[in-house]
Amino acid sequence: MVATPDLPPVYDRTTATTPTRNRDRMHYDADTVHAILDEAFLTHVSFQASGRPHVLPLIFGRHASRLYLHASTGSHLALAVRHAGDAGLPVSLAVTIADSLVLARSAMHHSMDYRCVIAHGPLRRVTDPDEVALGWRVLVDHLIAGRYADCRPPTPRETAQTALFALDLADVAARVRSHGLSEDAADLGLDHWAGVIPLRTTPGTPRPDDGVSAEPPAYLRRWLSART
Ligand SMILES: Cc1cc2nc3c(=O)[nH]c(=O)nc-3n(C[C@H](O)[C@H](O)[C@H](O)COP(=O)(O)OP(=O)(O)OC[C@H]3O[C@@H](n4cnc5c(N)ncnc54)[C@H](O)[C@@H]3O)c2cc1C
Repeated sequence: MVATPDLPPVYDRTTATTPTRNRDRMHYDADTVHAILDEAFLTHVSFQASGRPHVLPLIFGRHASRLYLHASTGSHLALAVRHAGDAGLPVSLAVTIADSLVLARSAMHHSMDYRCVIAHGPLRRVTDPDEVALGWRVLVDHLIAGRYADCRPPTPRETAQTALFALDLADVAARVRSHGLSEDAADLGLDHWAGVIPLRTTPGTPRPDDGVSAEPPAYLRRWLSART
């Protein structure tokens, strides 16, 4: 049994998660934060290593109020986590869903509608075998629910080559922009097209590998039909 931090109904608003501008767009409730994390496929993780800032796009998964990520043990990220020791490596990570392009009459008011989560905290390497197994399942099932049961689990050699990391959600908040166009009244008569272009991530037609059934398994058919 892997112990995870309690799930709070609302995350604390902290100095780290309070922006200077448009604070009305911020959400600290766990439902909003978790819904964004669960819908998105990738995160960008920023950290300091070898005297310079880094940012890395990675896949991730959420279990209660803990995120799991993985990377090669030879990567800058894994080496920096090892160097940081028990305290963990301070990171910030962003998870963004782009909902719309906002095309205003003025250049200034071009924008996007979005849902975004930023979390700050120490990233630590997971070494407990039960938690390593949990973390791998969470990562794979985050891509497509039910997928982990339809793949070979990692071997000891693979888990030695690929470090699993955990970040506990505490300093975390969501920011949502959903109001579309916002223009200066003086610009409304200008002769430029203006409006909102909704964006959506949709899966294409699966391309089965040689030797597997052309018909996707049931969990995958369910996932595809929910998104097309
Ligand atoms: C797709 C996308 C495009 C954007 N484009 C622009 C742009 O072109 N220009 C622009 O000024 N802003 C843009 N933003 C908003 C930008 O991310 C900041 O939220 C905003 O600039 C406020 O900055 P700040 O200085 O007040 O925040 P800061 O004071 O720097 O933020 C302090 C803390 O507040 C929290 N926070 C801030 N922003 C976010 C966020 N987006 N999501 C979750 N938590 C957050 C974080 O914990 C952060 O560390 C965009 C956001 C997204 C998701």
